[in-house]
Amino acid sequence: MSALRRLPETTVNRIAAGEVIERPASAVKELVENSLDAGARRIEIVLRDGGRSLISVDDDGHGMSAGDLSLCIERHATSKLPDDDLMDIRHLGFRGEALPSIGAVARLRIDSRQQDADTGWAIQVEGGRLLAPEPSSRARGTRVEVRDLFFATPARLKFLKTDRAEFGATLDMIKRLAMAHPEVGFTLKDDQRAAFQAGAEQGELLDARAARLARVMGREFVENALPVEAERDGIRLTGLAGVPTYNRGNATQQYMFVNGRPVRDKLFTGAVRGAYQDFLSGGRHAVLVLFLDVDPAFVDVNVHPAKAEVRFREPGVVRGLIVGGLRSVLAAAGHRASTTVAGQALGAFRPGAQPETPRFSMPSRPGGGNYMPRQDSASAREAFAAWQGPEGGMAGVAEAAAREFIDPSGRVETQAADAPAPSPDFPLGVARGQVHGTYIVAQTMDGIVLVDQHAAHERLVYERMKRQLDDNGVARQGLLLPEVVEMDEADADRIAARAEELESLGLMVERFGPGAIVVRETPALLGQCDIRGLLNDLADELAEFDQATGLKDRLQDVCSTMACHGSVRAGRRLNADEMNALLREMERTPHSGQCNHGRPTYVELHLNDIERLFGRR
Ligand code: ADP
Ligand code: MG
Repeated sequence: MSALRRLPETTVNRIAAGEVIERPASAVKELVENSLDAGARRIEIVLRDGGRSLISVDDDGHGMSAGDLSLCIERHATSKLPDDDLMDIRHLGFRGEALPSIGAVARLRIDSRQQDADTGWAIQVEGGRLLAPEPSSRARGTRVEVRDLFFATPARLKFLKTDRAEFGATLDMIKRLAMAHPEVGFTLKDDQRAAFQAGAEQGELLDARAARLARVMGREFVENALPVEAERDGIRLTGLAGVPTYNRGNATQQYMFVNGRPVRDKLFTGAVRGAYQDFLSGGRHAVLVLFLDVDPAFVDVNVHPAKAEVRFREPGVVRGLIVGGLRSVLAAAGHRASTTVAGQALGAFRPGAQPETPRFSMPSRPGGGNYMPRQDSASAREAFAAWQGPEGGMAGVAEAAAREFIDPSGRVETQAADAPAPSPDFPLGVARGQVHGTYIVAQTMDGIVLVDQHAAHERLVYERMKRQLDDNGVARQGLLLPEVVEMDEADADRIAARAEELESLGLMVERFGPGAIVVRETPALLGQCDIRGLLNDLADELAEFDQATGLKDRLQDVCSTMACHGSVRAGRRLNADEMNALLREMERTPHSGQCNHGRPTYVELHLNDIERLFGRR
């Protein structure tokens, strides 16, 4: 064994650099954070060969004196902890590690000049060796040039990906920082070509931020997102949350910031999943940008050298704030669905054409904000009564309606002859007909709405079930004649084992001999239902759940199964009153814009867009 000794400073710095500077993007992050901490209003970043041969960050911040320059590349030298208080971190930096780390693994040159200084100064560091400061022709601000990153640590060099991939990672990092700092202009150049550019945004923080998010994430996102604003115990949550139907196959479009610092944290992803779980199926992910502002004493950013993780003193409060804040904006959005749905629909109508987002706006209430369901319209109440139906619910009506409305030729389906005129009170319009026994066509003030009645109904059943569970329990309707459903013994066992749980969901069942179940009451909200089909499907579903899973934990799935056998399933003809009742209930029901799997329940096309389809515009 060799003798015990202290490692030389360059080696120490190289070891530290391994944690702080993982790849070009992390060097850029540290340098840009320094520029932001220096109060810059304009930051220009240039990369060559993905950052391998050159990274340069140029800012108009407060700059450094010759003395600062000599000191700033020493380990743990920082101007950002005036009271040595790690509980009071008010800058993005605080560890004093970035510049010495970069200096240890690359060739570093810093030119800087303070605003009122007569001259600028430059220093150079090569593989940890400092060359004496010399005067520089630099005007105000600081420029840091990093050449030949990792030339001093060839092992790390081997782990770099392609130039393109490294550039992409840097671009992503710049976008994150740009989202959090709308008042600052950013330019990222790949050699000469500008890959990203965002001028300093003007106006109040929220306006500036919306403009910046539109630039970074695209206008489409901003148009399909809801403003979030919530506060609890001095912690403030703001940002934009995409409507559930505007979703993605992965979670890469979820951005979180704590006190202006981009972070990746399980707490956030978990809370977001919790807030959206009712609206998105497993593989789909919300798109959102959230900003959390909290007293520095309540958050520890000193968790990881790259400062990408944080710890909260009270994680439960933060989680509650996020879940609660998101749920309430999603509820307030009512039935709103993504506008891109209509864009895709129009794209599909025009072969070869690029799907474009049409002009689309949800009817809004005076005072701005999103449409809020209206509770007290008399006609809506009547329609609702028809839809809930005291005797037999919709199903009885639906059958009568079917007799009444089916044209003998079978071609004309439901006609809504004397339906009311479209009005602003009915954002989803007035039903004009049903096609293919599945879709409701409604006329709105300035367009048409197509509703997938089955998807919508499934959602309404779920939302009603939840509501009733919270209130007085799920209402049941007794069957005149109890129905006996024969099934496999194993299936019957599964159903019987869950009898108590099923009862709490409105379904009264009992064992009836070895291979049968008798059903005495069904959930009233289903209307008349196909009991045999429902029991068989439930048995299949229970076979997939493990014993310990409560049905309430899988309420969405259970409700989907129930809705499939309820009165408004696809293929069921509806009369005008029923269709309108369905539309009114959708308007009144939060979250009805998407089905239990995150797909839209309706598509709205504006007259303008329809006219454009026909070349009238
Ligand atoms: P930290 O940011 O944690 O303080 P760094 O190694 O990144 O550590 O920077 C060390 C110091 O150098 C900073 O505290 C700051 O005083 C100074 N500095 C670095 N970059 C700039 C810049 N762009 N403009 C002005 N001062 C800077
Ligand atoms: Mg720093």
